[in-house]
Amino acid sequence: MQLSRFTQTVVMPIYNYGSINIDHVYRVPHLVRPGETLSSQDYQQVLGGKGANQSIALARAGSEVLHIGRYNLADQALVHTLIDAGVSPIYLATVTEPSGHAIIQVDDQGENSIILYAGANHSFTPDQLVCCLQTAQAGDWLLLQNECSCTQEMIELAAARGLQLAFNPAPMQAAVKELPLERLAVLFVNQVEVCQLLDLPLEPPPALADLVALLQTRWPTTLVVITLGAQGAASIYQGQLEFVPALPVQVVDTTGAGDTFTGYFLHAWMQGQPLRTALERAVKASALCVQRVGASSSIPYAAEVDAFEQ
Ligand code: ADP
Repeated sequence: MQLSRFTQTVVMPIYNYGSINIDHVYRVPHLVRPGETLSSQDYQQVLGGKGANQSIALARAGSEVLHIGRYNLADQALVHTLIDAGVSPIYLATVTEPSGHAIIQVDDQGENSIILYAGANHSFTPDQLVCCLQTAQAGDWLLLQNECSCTQEMIELAAARGLQLAFNPAPMQAAVKELPLERLAVLFVNQVEVCQLLDLPLEPPPALADLVALLQTRWPTTLVVITLGAQGAASIYQGQLEFVPALPVQVVDTTGAGDTFTGYFLHAWMQGQPLRTALERAVKASALCVQRVGASSSIPYAAEVDAFEQ
């Protein structure tokens, strides 16, 4: 296989302090009603969690990824999906708690309903975090989402160790606003999340140009990347706005698009690619993702992104 030009340069490793979920996906005629017992027409177990998906996206983009995560030994076979994708398992640990998992119903209209249980993802305690960064050197990157416990402690520890931090505050909660976000090198948000962080109304959505001054004042040294769904993506950095429109593709399933975007953008940015190039690369990768069903299985490989012509 030919190496992508985005994978040829050897880069520093990236640590991902991220969730590992087992997704139990049930196909049902309609979402189950209170008191009802409903037979499922299909059942699948797949690896999920924003953390795991972003590790896979980074690895497929060409990064050397060390995933810091926990799961129950019973789920070893599915967690192997991470290792198969090329993610280093040295910071993967098994615990006695159940793995993080999601019970997902998908009905005939494509509507879904999800119960999420954090399980092992919330088993981290502050005193255990130092061991998770044993091999990390100043200047290495650490990516985090908001699905593991001790997010604040991890941000503070990694920043004190001189790591460069990238954060995707999903799922968004009020507590995210209290995190030391000024320590981030890169903040990944969608339109809803940026409004919540800046206390702006969701409707009408803020104009990107109006966000420039607000973000520059709030986090002057942070590169803020805003994904805009079917519209594309933007970045605001050092008072400059870049916008890249989404590619016009046949959308089948948008699950995993944000995680694909994060992995591909970060890989290009860590390699020193210009901001616009990194945005274009991530928009392309996520346009491939939305044309396929599934989450981790729909994350494209670098060679596919290279070859992608619409
Ligand atoms: P999230 O799920 O994290 O909110 P988005 O929905 O913004 O993320 O999607 C991430 C990226 O995926 C977008 O910035 C865009 O590049 C791409 N994308 C999402 N929806 C579409 C679409 N309908 N057509 C083409 N690209 C899309």
